[in-house]
Order: sequence, then structure tokens, then C-alpha cells
Amino acid sequence: MKIPKYHFVLLNSRSIFRTRKMSLSAVLSCAVLVAITIVSAGLTRISWLASTYGWSKVAFCRERQDNARLITKLADLEAGLNNGNIELKRLSDFEDSHRLAYGMNAIGADIRKAGTGGMPSLAERADMQQSNPLLFRAGAIQDSMTILLRRADLQNATFDQMSQFAEQKKAYLDEHPSVKPANGAITSEFGYRSDPISGEQALHQGLDIAGNIGTPIFAPADGVVKEVGIHQNYGRTVVLRHAGCGMETLYGHLSDYAVHVGQHVKRGELIAYMGNSGKSTGPHLHYEVHQLGHAVNPRPFILPEDQIVD
Ligand SMILES: [Zn+2]
Repeated sequence: MKIPKYHFVLLNSRSIFRTRKMSLSAVLSCAVLVAITIVSAGLTRISWLASTYGWSKVAFCRERQDNARLITKLADLEAGLNNGNIELKRLSDFEDSHRLAYGMNAIGADIRKAGTGGMPSLAERADMQQSNPLLFRAGAIQDSMTILLRRADLQNATFDQMSQFAEQKKAYLDEHPSVKPANGAITSEFGYRSDPISGEQALHQGLDIAGNIGTPIFAPADGVVKEVGIHQNYGRTVVLRHAGCGMETLYGHLSDYAVHVGQHVKRGELIAYMGNSGKSTGPHLHYEVHQLGHAVNPRPFILPEDQIVD
């Protein structure tokens, strides 16, 4: 049997006169074709691998850049958290010092922590730190942020509480009798004495401040006018109610009034004029202080003259 031959024409790209003719047996031709196919497949594979490697490298570079940006972002967040903690500490110190000044208890350190429940355990944190440091760092920031927000909420609540307490305290102090209601010498103290009218021993329920008729009388504290009218013993009388501290003050033997029932008065505001009305032996103010419904010595409610009351 005659073995077929295949003829190949090899062209020269520089000259058509340099073409060559090659004759190969069928077996050899097949071998050459197989070799060409294998080489082509190899080249294709190498080309695909090179391309994949190139894209992987690009992706890796992008990830590295993203990572760098993420690290910068995390550092910014940590710095922000640190500033937040410093500011919150400054506020809590400020609050504690003012709470003490207002007679309030300081907030305990445990309460200030505002709880840390729900956070990962130490073992979980250690695992996370080893397996993915960045994720661990982000998780730690999230935890710190949660605690910071809780503490900020608590701070807000305790500031509100302190503010309400301070307002109550101020109202109490504003309505607490603290000054002498009229100029003049104190001629009779609170306590038992021989009554100047009846001559019998009786409790003198107030202070007598002597002066001229028409001497102005001022409110010793903020309050509301409870009564304005004629009293059997005290003549023309004004009564102020100081509800913030559960007290009342009475002004007797007046010559005239300067207020009406229901009127709000401030400390130092004119309320009446000294007189000699009622059972009185001369112009003076009879000044009473009532605490929880009982007459008490007004002396402790007159601060020394060098003490400033606003
Ligand atoms: Zn009196």
C-alpha cells in the first residue's frame, strides 16, 4: 500500500521567489498537527494564567489601598472616640463638683460606666484579634461607641436631674425669709413677756421693729400675698405665703398696704407701711414668721447685714 504524503508550501514574507515545498508522510503530518495543537493549547493556558495573575495583582493593589484607607478611617474614629471620652469625663467631673455644691450625691463610678453587657468575652476578643486584627479593631470601636453613647445618655439624664434640683433649691432659697423687713431698732424679741396692753405673761410671737409711721416695709423673700386686712390685735395686717419652703410671714400694726391678695412679690419689694393700728403702744412693725403652721423666732431668718442676698 502506498503511504500518502502531504505537501506543505512555506511562504517567505520577504520574497515570493523564496517559497519552499515540504513533503511529509501522513504520520509525520499528524504528529506535527498534534504538536502544534499542544503548543497552541499551552500558549493559551499561559496567556490566561498571565492575564489572571495581572488582574489579581490589580485587585490586590486596590485592596491594599482600601485597607490603608480603612486603617486611616479607624484611626480617625479612635481619635474621635478618645476626644469624646475626654469631653464626657470633663462634663461628669463638672457635674459631680456641682452636685456636691447643691448638696446632691455624686454619681457613682459603677453607674457612670452605664453597663457593658452584650460585649464579646476576653476569649472571643483574643480569637478575633488573631484571626482578623482589623475586624477586631473595628469591633472594639463599635463597642466603645456603644458605651460612649450610653454614658452620654446617662450624662444627659443626670444633668436634667441636677438642673431640676437646682431650680427647686433656688426656688426654696428665693422664698426663704432672710432679711429684716424694715429699718429700725428691734424693741421686743420673740418669747414670753409681760404683755404691754394686758400686763399678763404671754407669748410674743414675733419681733417688734420700731420706726416712724410710714416707714416702708419690704418682703424678706419671694412669695404670694395671702391676706390683706384688719386683724383684731394687729390692726392692719399683711400675710405673705412662701410656699417653696412651707412658710408664712405676718406684718402687723401697719398704717397702709402696698399690695393686694394674690399678688406675687419678690424679695425687697415694698409691701406696706409701718403704723400704729390695732393693739399697739406706739408706731412699730410686728413681724412674725410661721413655719409649718407654728410661729417661730424670726431672728434666725434675718441674716447678718454684711451677708449678701440676691
Ligand atoms: Zn409685737
